Amino acid sequence: MNLKPTIGIETHIELNTNTKMFCRCRVVDTEEPNVNLCPTCLGLPGALPVPNEKAIRYITLLALATGCSITKKGMFHRKNYFYPDLPKNYQISQFDLPVGENGNLEIVIDNEKDYVEIERVHMEEDTGKSSHEGSGRIDSATSTSLDFNRSGIPLVEIVTKPVIKSSKEAVAYIEELRQLAIELEISEGKLEKGNLRFDANISVAPSESNELGTKVEIKNMNSLRSLERAIDFEIKRQSSALENGDIIIQETRHWDESKETTTSMRSKEGSADYRYFSDPDIPNMVLPDEFINQVKESLPSLPHENRNKLMETGLGLSDSNVLSKSEKWIFELYFEVFNNTKDSKASFNWITGELQGQMRKLEIKSLPNWFSANLLSDVIKLIDENKISFTSGKVILEELIQMDTTPDEIAKRLDLYQENDEVAISKIVNEIIDNNQDIVERIKNGEDKLVGFMVGQIIKSSGGSINPGMAKEILSKELNL
Ligand SMILES: [Zn+2]
Repeated sequence: MNLKPTIGIETHIELNTNTKMFCRCRVVDTEEPNVNLCPTCLGLPGALPVPNEKAIRYITLLALATGCSITKKGMFHRKNYFYPDLPKNYQISQFDLPVGENGNLEIVIDNEKDYVEIERVHMEEDTGKSSHEGSGRIDSATSTSLDFNRSGIPLVEIVTKPVIKSSKEAVAYIEELRQLAIELEISEGKLEKGNLRFDANISVAPSESNELGTKVEIKNMNSLRSLERAIDFEIKRQSSALENGDIIIQETRHWDESKETTTSMRSKEGSADYRYFSDPDIPNMVLPDEFINQVKESLPSLPHENRNKLMETGLGLSDSNVLSKSEKWIFELYFEVFNNTKDSKASFNWITGELQGQMRKLEIKSLPNWFSANLLSDVIKLIDENKISFTSGKVILEELIQMDTTPDEIAKRLDLYQENDEVAISKIVNEIIDNNQDIVERIKNGEDKLVGFMVGQIIKSSGGSINPGMAKEILSKELNL
């Protein structure tokens, strides 16, 4: 049976506002539990919520950046369910009137552009945090601790349409969304800190079918690696079930990182189970045109626009994608070096390869203040002009990161400038020819690969100061090759 998987992803991004969504509690990154609390985020009787304007601005930013149409007259809804870390017994969310709908996000996969359709972008408040001691699962824990510091922190939820076709595409989508949140400065985008959390809805159906299969929701994936593996596992599990004639149950499954399997958590509830109704404590969310225009004007250069700018310098899509997802200083350094050298490929390779490699080796996270784009540009230019070898360039760069000096000073001190004087090179070439008559004979009889040996001898004899290209050129001339 030919089967095709279909994936939809729901992502929650924690917004980096100063205060929580509906109260004045500060959002603070602390290990100490239950210190940022008030009657509102603890759900005590009589407490009333007041929406956070900055959070609504951030959600609108993301909705506009993903090309969504904005709901001017929106609403807050209550999503009713019980869980120990949800003291109100409902979560304030949005139901049929989200901030944004029907957008899309450009992603890069296999060196090609693709688009993921976005169904909706809406507000949600975070819950508290339950720690199930012993097993990590509520059903087999010895006890559970509750921390409400996170309760009421504003989240934006982004829901894709069921259009993603593979785990690889899912990872590319999350990488793009993460970068977008960073560029918009609405989140630091740190997965390890839980700034971004995602669930995947996966179904498998016969390839020729126009209908989707029964969807299964996977939770508890906390890294891109676990997202990729959980999706692959689930596609395999559902495919073999269908091939065996089994029925897929609509349910929520838990990704077990250590066992690398998904296990059933609960049968999936439909939206009717949550008894959504509009929150009577909060007025409607009305977004005036003036507000929407103001947010639109504050949009920065988006990741796909940055990719296009990089491609205009001559880089390919894949390299442009790498740089568009780099730290800001790397992205900016590339443009400065490119503007000096006009060599896009060398600028890219030196920055993403050598420079970052050296920094990792030296265990430094930022460059010293004397290091400038001009210094790196000079190294690239010296190589492009054949004045130094590529290997010497690496030596120079290593010193430039550790010492306030110039490429010229290092090249002179370490005697790295190559001999480009034809007369001087010819002299050495002829010496090598005289000393290796047997090899010369074999080259003339067709053993081409020995040319490389001769070039090696010439460079060795010059103490490494001869440029290999010139050595080869003059050797060929002298031997009439
Ligand atoms: Zn509070």
